[in-house]
Amino acid sequence: MTTRRLTIAGVVVGGAAVAAARFWPRRGAVPGGVGQPLLRMPFARGTVVVCSQGNQLRGGHTHALPQNRFAVDFAQPALDVVEVIAAAAGTVAYALADVDPESVDAGLGYGNQVKIAHAGGYHTFYAHLDGVAVRAGERVEQGRRIGTMGATGRAGIRHLHFSLHEASSSAPGATTNEAIEELVAMDLQGPREFRRARGDELLGDPDAFWLGRLYASENSPSEAPLLGAPSGALGAIVDAGERALREVLARRERLAASARERSSLTVDSLAGALSAELAADPDHPVALYLWATSVDVPRERWQQAEATLLRALASNAIPRRKEPWLAARAYLHLGSIARRRGLASSARGYFEAALRQSISADVAAEARRELAR
Ligand SMILES: [Zn+2]
Repeated sequence: MTTRRLTIAGVVVGGAAVAAARFWPRRGAVPGGVGQPLLRMPFARGTVVVCSQGNQLRGGHTHALPQNRFAVDFAQPALDVVEVIAAAAGTVAYALADVDPESVDAGLGYGNQVKIAHAGGYHTFYAHLDGVAVRAGERVEQGRRIGTMGATGRAGIRHLHFSLHEASSSAPGATTNEAIEELVAMDLQGPREFRRARGDELLGDPDAFWLGRLYASENSPSEAPLLGAPSGALGAIVDAGERALREVLARRERLAASARERSSLTVDSLAGALSAELAADPDHPVALYLWATSVDVPRERWQQAEATLLRALASNAIPRRKEPWLAARAYLHLGSIARRRGLASSARGYFEAALRQSISADVAAEARRELAR
């Protein structure tokens, strides 16, 4: 039996005790050992995110690996830029910035990354960052900006991979990770209040890979954790953030359904659905792609289809919109249009781009077949 021991250390900033760092004993820790720091959501106060991959998922998910077992992925496709902030105070043990954004193996697959060492022999890990705003050795307060959400390394869609580990580490990549005992967050499917949640409550839906639960952050630099119902002002920001995020997620889900069902849809019903989506968001890359490949592709309109695919690719290059599968498939279509127009060298360029950007074996094989023709 272990004795639960609580250490409270007041941090005095500007003459007032504004933050208390609290530590809980880790599971199986020896009596008197210092436990895990209380973690806050790694996003600024009021930010709403979707848990795109939770923890302890079944095999086949990247979080089934021991170094990711209790990690959580948070995505936010409604905001152009999402600041990532320190979940607890500590010292930057490792920071990797400026990896090659095209390399999925960069930073051992975690891309640009930051590790913050905390009291009690733990560190938090923030991966797939776009920009990194801290350097190794720097002391950071809880709530301090450490970078921006990105899609570097083996990320797929833009998201933050966030996890807790024992011991400090000044090397790239992740060591075996630990269950988060407590994390201050608001689960927007539950009562609308901030509470201490166990990390294993933070789950994506394993059956709907990307559409997980929504969480809000109360994390604000140098302020003590906010528990309970938020103030009216903060509540309104969370509500607006939730509405905007749900709208983007619902559109994405509708378009994915159209893509899945398009062989059984009539051209008219698909055109109607896509017209409505494009009226709401004229640059949605998936809507443009489906339009160009399903509706707008009669032979005599090659150029229009080509222009629409190029628009889809340009829009898909915006990080918050990026669908990792889209680029290679769009290039395959562009290649076959160019070939039918008799533009052999353009076709070759498009098929080569499809091969470079493919994330699935069948798309890569199709690009290789086209290049061999
Ligand atoms: Zn992850």
